Amino acid sequence: MPLWNAPPYVARMQRQVLQWFTSQARDLPWRQNISPYRTWISEIMLQQTQVTTVIDYWKRFVQRFPTVKALAAADESEVLKLWEGLGYYRRARQLHAAARQIAERHAGQFPTSYDDVLALPGIGRYTAGAILSISTNQSLPILEGNTIRLYARLLGMKTDPTRSDNQKELWKFAESIVPSRNPGDFNQGLMEIGSQVCRLKSPDCPACPLKSRCPTFQNQWQDIIPAAKEKRTQYESRFETIALIERRGKYLCRLVPAGQRWAGLWDFVRIDLTDQIHNIDVGYQTLDEQRQRQLLESRVQETTGLETQLSWTPWTIRHGVTRYRIQLRSVHSQRVQGRIKSASGFQWLTLHQVQEHPFNVTARKFCEQYLLPLKQQATAQRTQPRQ
Ligand code: SF4
Repeated sequence: MPLWNAPPYVARMQRQVLQWFTSQARDLPWRQNISPYRTWISEIMLQQTQVTTVIDYWKRFVQRFPTVKALAAADESEVLKLWEGLGYYRRARQLHAAARQIAERHAGQFPTSYDDVLALPGIGRYTAGAILSISTNQSLPILEGNTIRLYARLLGMKTDPTRSDNQKELWKFAESIVPSRNPGDFNQGLMEIGSQVCRLKSPDCPACPLKSRCPTFQNQWQDIIPAAKEKRTQYESRFETIALIERRGKYLCRLVPAGQRWAGLWDFVRIDLTDQIHNIDVGYQTLDEQRQRQLLESRVQETTGLETQLSWTPWTIRHGVTRYRIQLRSVHSQRVQGRIKSASGFQWLTLHQVQEHPFNVTARKFCEQYLLPLKQQATAQRTQPRQ
């Protein structure tokens, strides 16, 4: 491994990163009027989400909840509504729980001690280090997606950087380079170099401020570092259907209870037919359409208590949730009989309520791409002058 840890190199690296960051930093809204609260919101939103997507969400969020106290006082459903579309909703729920904890234990002031921050829900070693180094200039190391790749390349690490021994090595490296002056700008500079210059595909090595001591650049190892994960995720196929059950202009929906996927968000009726698909590679075609419809109608009845006559809609997508690869189809029924099963949690919502409540991302897509155009078409037909 190169001698990055020797003091002269570390000092030079710190200067190079800080100089680069001063001239190249992107103008991002959370980099103005920096406070622990504003940095915290940005760091949580940026987990697993691109900067360009986060910008508008962050602005709306801090405008509606400008302080920890405002966030703590909000209903969870309002927090989830502002989060709608960002995905990974657990982040929003933990953010809200952490705000309540801060209101209770720290009188609504975001704590500035590392141990207190680390004790908050949804905050790990990286996030605590990022928040406190950026907003209070505490000399704390960071290690996240972009810096894992950057450090692995700077160290010439050819084995899987997510392996626990390599993670230890990377944290040690991060600790050894973080300066006592301007650690926040230094850490942001490293993350920015990681995301903008030391990209996974085609890193821009000639433009990199750290190229002079980078073994990956010198040996042209960019394609082999970072090494692939040793254990590949095993994906599971799932076959689900959204059922739009409509009665007198209202739609059958439920607030997903705690402990289930998308807890705290709303959903339409959703039926899983995976247990009926005998050949995963062939998928839905293993069952003829009529058999599928019968199964769906009987499961809708079991789930909701209602008898329906379902017809296919053209809306269908494929999407991924954690380790699941889901093929999602949709059906619609305007012929409905019976009463909602009392313990099912389902209720009738108007279209306005569907638009106002926080829905999970595929239900929202279904609403925007199928339900809303359908209603607009129906309204246009009704208002057309008679010939
Ligand atoms: Fe990454 Fe290239 Fe810079 Fe090395 S020189 S840190 S590989 S961008």
